[in-house]
Amino acid sequence: MLGATARKLRALGFDTEYFERGLDPELKKLARSRGRIILTSDKALSQLAAREGVTTFFVNGRSEVARFRSIALQASLNSVDLARGPTRCTSCNQALTLVAKEKIGDRVPSSILTRHRTFYECPRCGKLFWKGSQWSRLRRLSYLLRQPVPKP
Ligand SMILES: [Zn+2]
Repeated sequence: MLGATARKLRALGFDTEYFERGLDPELKKLARSRGRIILTSDKALSQLAAREGVTTFFVNGRSEVARFRSIALQASLNSVDLARGPTRCTSCNQALTLVAKEKIGDRVPSSILTRHRTFYECPRCGKLFWKGSQWSRLRRLSYLLRQPVPKP
């Protein structure tokens, strides 16, 4: 249910695995073995995982802004520092690398090529990225994660 949120977190540089469906015990096992935090909108899963000592953020809200505020609150409640790394591929979570504009050729429309100087490529799936109009929206969302959230 948090697929769009997961893609945005990856673009913002958070190492994010996403499971559309998963058995709760498998998710908990994965989170524990890889030292990951479970983000879920499933209240039952969040309570169960938290009881078993897996750090879990219960993420709610209908809008992306509300969900990001929810993540910031959960991070604050769990004393988790939301440190970002390099921008990641929204599809496969691989860290992106810079790619020379000359090497892009006709892989993007020429209008994009003339308007942007910096391009990134996913070394795993080959998808290309640039900081288009969606990037400013993403940056606004990322500010929500950096603001201190008062604990209720
Ligand atoms: Zn990729």
